[in-house]
Amino acid sequence: MTPPRWTELMEEVLIGIKNSALTLILESEDLKALEEVKLQFLGRSGRLTIAIKNIAKLPIQKRPEVGQLANEVKKTIEETITEQELKLKNLESNKRKEQIDITAPGIKPRIGHLHPMTQVLYDVVDVFKGIGFQPCDGPEIETDYYNFEVLNIPKNHPARDTQQTLYLDTRNTKITPGEIILRTQTSAMQGRVMEKANPPLRVIVPGKNFRYEQVDASHGFEFWQVEGFFVDTHVRLTDLFGTIDYVLKKLMGEKTKLKFATTNFPFVEPGVDTYMECSVCKRKGCSFCKQSGWSEIMPAGMIHPNVLKAVGYDPNKFSGFAFAIGLSRLVTLRYQMDDLRLLTNPDLRILEQF
Ligand SMILES: [Zn+2]
Repeated sequence: MTPPRWTELMEEVLIGIKNSALTLILESEDLKALEEVKLQFLGRSGRLTIAIKNIAKLPIQKRPEVGQLANEVKKTIEETITEQELKLKNLESNKRKEQIDITAPGIKPRIGHLHPMTQVLYDVVDVFKGIGFQPCDGPEIETDYYNFEVLNIPKNHPARDTQQTLYLDTRNTKITPGEIILRTQTSAMQGRVMEKANPPLRVIVPGKNFRYEQVDASHGFEFWQVEGFFVDTHVRLTDLFGTIDYVLKKLMGEKTKLKFATTNFPFVEPGVDTYMECSVCKRKGCSFCKQSGWSEIMPAGMIHPNVLKAVGYDPNKFSGFAFAIGLSRLVTLRYQMDDLRLLTNPDLRILEQF
């Protein structure tokens, strides 16, 4: 027989457990501490768990009484834990709210900017729009007719040798070999536009061209041009000079130094070459300008009467000028880059400088 004393002892133990549990629960300052207290009393080897197991050792008639007390103690402890848990959670979320400083400056997202080519292209289009030129777009895959023939460059013309042409593979088609090419010049759009519209015409055609060229600091197999042409009655060579001078000074600054030289292209008569002072070396001579101090930027001239005839204009009634700005060259000159290849380099350390 278990002495009666044990029952009273068990009751004392249970009351003691309750008191120390409640004290510790109410004293716990965060959820982690509270969880530890919970384990200490209600865990598998917690003080209350063990005490409850010991009830089985009491005389059978005493067990219900002590068992009921144990249940009450357990319930009180559990309820107090739940209340304390809620209190601590509220406290923590209030603390978090206080930490958000709505007056602090935000984190700026990293965004890119327009490529230097696009920046200059937009500027060029803007300047020309200001003097009445209308931008238009054309195909990069072009026919031999628009790229050469209509521009007074018939087959076997020696001028074709200077424009190393990339031909499309047409072997499995009905197209005559050599008729479809990657355009070598945006001038290919002259015929397309003039066939469809009557003078007066003021048009610019920005676009990419392709030539089979050895790539170096000032040449690429892919390059941008802005073709432009103006056809009306009484268009003179001085109109061409005035336009080039106005546009380049607008784009490159009023101090821009230009020089014109005569040249020969089949689609113009007379032909004019425009040179700009090399902005890389300021006429001292460098690899970019091939030590000449000048950079060729814009072949131009008065549209050849044969071109006007080919599109159905009367050369005795109409005249016009045409030019092609080397856009890639313009970009490198504006930003004093000594190598055209930098423009197609995707390295952000280069692009971020513009
Ligand atoms: Zn130079």
